[in-house]
Amino acid sequence: TPTVPALPDTAALQQLDAAHYLHPFTDHAALAQQGARVMVRGDGIYLWDSEGRKVLDAMSGLWCVNVGYGRRSITEAVARQMDTLPFYNSFFNTTTIPAVQLAAKLAQLAPPGFHHVFYTGSGSEANDTNVRMVRRYWDLQGQPERTVIISRRNAYHGSTMAGASLGGMTGMHVQGGLPIPGIVHIEQPHYLEHGAGMTAEEFGVHAASWLEERIRELGPDKVAAFIGEPVQGAGGVIIPPSTYWPEIGRICDKYDVLLIADEVITGFGRLGRWFASELYGIRPDLITFAKGVTSGYIPLGGVLVGDRVANVLRRGGDFNHGFTYSGHPVACAAALENIRILEEEGLVERVANDTGPYLKARFATLATHPLVGTADSAGFMAGLNLVKRKAATVHYQVRFDPVLRVGMLCRAHMFDNGIIMRAVGDRMIIAPPLVMTRAQIDEMVDRIRYCLDLTQ
Ligand code: PLP
Repeated sequence: TPTVPALPDTAALQQLDAAHYLHPFTDHAALAQQGARVMVRGDGIYLWDSEGRKVLDAMSGLWCVNVGYGRRSITEAVARQMDTLPFYNSFFNTTTIPAVQLAAKLAQLAPPGFHHVFYTGSGSEANDTNVRMVRRYWDLQGQPERTVIISRRNAYHGSTMAGASLGGMTGMHVQGGLPIPGIVHIEQPHYLEHGAGMTAEEFGVHAASWLEERIRELGPDKVAAFIGEPVQGAGGVIIPPSTYWPEIGRICDKYDVLLIADEVITGFGRLGRWFASELYGIRPDLITFAKGVTSGYIPLGGVLVGDRVANVLRRGGDFNHGFTYSGHPVACAAALENIRILEEEGLVERVANDTGPYLKARFATLATHPLVGTADSAGFMAGLNLVKRKAATVHYQVRFDPVLRVGMLCRAHMFDNGIIMRAVGDRMIIAPPLVMTRAQIDEMVDRIRYCLDLTQ
């Protein structure tokens, strides 16, 4: 068992943090008032902070620690690779053993028709890569005017200029003059928001028709690709109706538009499949991955490139794109060991057949709480929406105003009571580590209910 570090001086660390550390996505005035909580240790699904408090991490960090914290064999794989060759990448005609082995492994795990990978350091870089790759593809196909990429409002595809532009977060677009040219957005398939008067299945087809409308408006010969998360994660765990993705696929086929599945969250078992595209009947040309590929132990991302695009790129001369850390050997070694664990422990199948359905049933019981409208899940992603009062319809009519405040209050109660859940407006969401057991699911749901009681 790992040695437990002595508790550090929390106040001193918080002072240094406030003095020097600009946190991502953070209101620093608010943070300075409360002080950052200092996390020091993790084991399984639990974290410990600098004051020795134990907290159940229902978010897997940032949707990434799929195999849980404290995996000694990943540490060892990383240390071995660091000892042997900590880094090598020249771009030009060289490779490394872990990078090759991981590429072959990913080709084996990917849906049919995928045999190639382009490595990046993160999900954002992978989506930037997608933008350049699909435009390069259409150039090489003699259709250079096909440049526009269609995405969705409230999507999250990263924080780089292209990633944030592909994303549909208004709060990001207003800072820095985004989106960059050539990226447009359609509405998200959010049944609670837009589906009143329709069954979920009818709504799925209707929401997909927004893509066809937009392609026609732009002119099909201008559209390079459509990108979407199988289940929108950071947008609030928005689970699309079952009819949505097959209809999106039909429309992309009809207009010969490339389809990019951003599986940065949904890949590597989160929905009980190696890739959620298999679950939703998505037939993508490109798949973005990151996070779960290494369970977040070391940064790594990439694009799985389907044969249609790979065959053209591979014949097309130089693709002038890449990163110093593309195929980083240490990151690839961590990924190989992480995937070995997922396979050996049957975690993907367990989410599909055992703990995923159990989580669904237990999480759904939260819908009886007076503060909760709906509570739904897909695999190991789940979300509930907080409502002012129960209504006969599940559609948004009884939202808190402003919605943000109640979510933040609820999140604060969670944080103070030993569970990390994320608030997105009035949606409270989770994405627990895939190692979570049935007993731990019970513990998590009980804690959530307790904190909802405190929020009332
Ligand atoms: N795509 C999706 C669907 C994500 O959820 C994220 C991160 O949360 C990204 C892309 C960006 O990945 P990264 O933060 O590694 O750049």
